[in-house]
Amino acid sequence: MTRPTQAIIYSSALRANVQRIRELAPQQKVIAVLKADGYGHGAVRVANVLATLVDAFAVCSLDEALVLRHAGITTPILLLEGFFSVDELPIIAAQQLETVVHTQWQIEHILASQLPVKVWLKVDTGMHRLGFLPEETEAIWKRLNQCDTLLKPVPLMSHLSCADERQNKTTIEQLSVFNELLRRISTEASFANSAGILAWQATHCDWVRPGIMLYGVSPFPDTVAKDEGLQSVMQLQSALISVKQYRKGDSIGYGATWRCPQSMPVGVVAVGYADGYPRHAPSGTPVLVNGRRVPLIGRVSMDMLAVDLRSQPNAKVGDVVVLWGRNLPIEEIATLAGTIPYQLLCNVSQRVPRIERT
Ligand SMILES: *Cc1c(COP(=O)(O)O)cnc(C)c1O
Repeated sequence: MTRPTQAIIYSSALRANVQRIRELAPQQKVIAVLKADGYGHGAVRVANVLATLVDAFAVCSLDEALVLRHAGITTPILLLEGFFSVDELPIIAAQQLETVVHTQWQIEHILASQLPVKVWLKVDTGMHRLGFLPEETEAIWKRLNQCDTLLKPVPLMSHLSCADERQNKTTIEQLSVFNELLRRISTEASFANSAGILAWQATHCDWVRPGIMLYGVSPFPDTVAKDEGLQSVMQLQSALISVKQYRKGDSIGYGATWRCPQSMPVGVVAVGYADGYPRHAPSGTPVLVNGRRVPLIGRVSMDMLAVDLRSQPNAKVGDVVVLWGRNLPIEEIATLAGTIPYQLLCNVSQRVPRIERT
């Protein structure tokens, strides 16, 4: 390897986070969400670590599921958006995948196919993204349940829109819609994402669907991993590739947006927005140089960013720089950059090698 930019993936942290989920939801089965290449951590890598620890995996699409099957993963896999065209159905059956059904044409095609597939019926309890209206759900569920070829049970699932806001009454309203349905339809159910698992015990049902918390990130805007008993899985790191002394008034980087207030050392780090570091991280965003916080200065460029080394006068070329990880919460970086940790993780680009450590 040449360039020092890499994402360290700590498998022991993944295991510890599953343990935390089991503590919070001891009676529930766990569907580990691995969409978007395991939130940027590498879906196959994460699946290999978690295969014996969880009950199922969930991904966005058939393509994502096939990557896991081709890597030898035999755990049940749920397609969260279901199938996008009928040609996918024979493959779903042959690969023993499970599919969400959320729209009428999917219902008609899955029934007509006569394939032995497990389906999860998605209800829209208020998010208004995917799913059937509560009032049409019972009739559709009965049709699926009466179909001899489909595998049973046919669970109900729904998704929470505001669970990351602890005071938001929307979750209570969604829950009452879902529970009302479950009084009339006797089957398994799944509702909770990470925020539901952590903050809304009443949403746990039979199957929980943790995504972001698996990766050791808080789903809430006001807490970090540690506060939630989670361990950060990814550390994005690089190194100083240049350290130079500049004079008072010298400008740093594109647009000359930052000027040295005095004669000072400035470091250049080999990481930029093409690696997934957010271009909108403002001057002052913390970066760790040899484990100590220093501020980013100037604009983030495609392959590099600059840091103020006044507090680290001995820093030199080759020193390790951490952009986020155990000792620098990704939640903090995301807030400063005006985004959420989910997006930062998914944006870590293919050119960044993932290095697995225990
Ligand atoms: C992504 C996703 C999840 C996981 O959400 P987190 O907030 O990452 O825990 C759960 N359910 C569905 C339907 C999803 O799309």
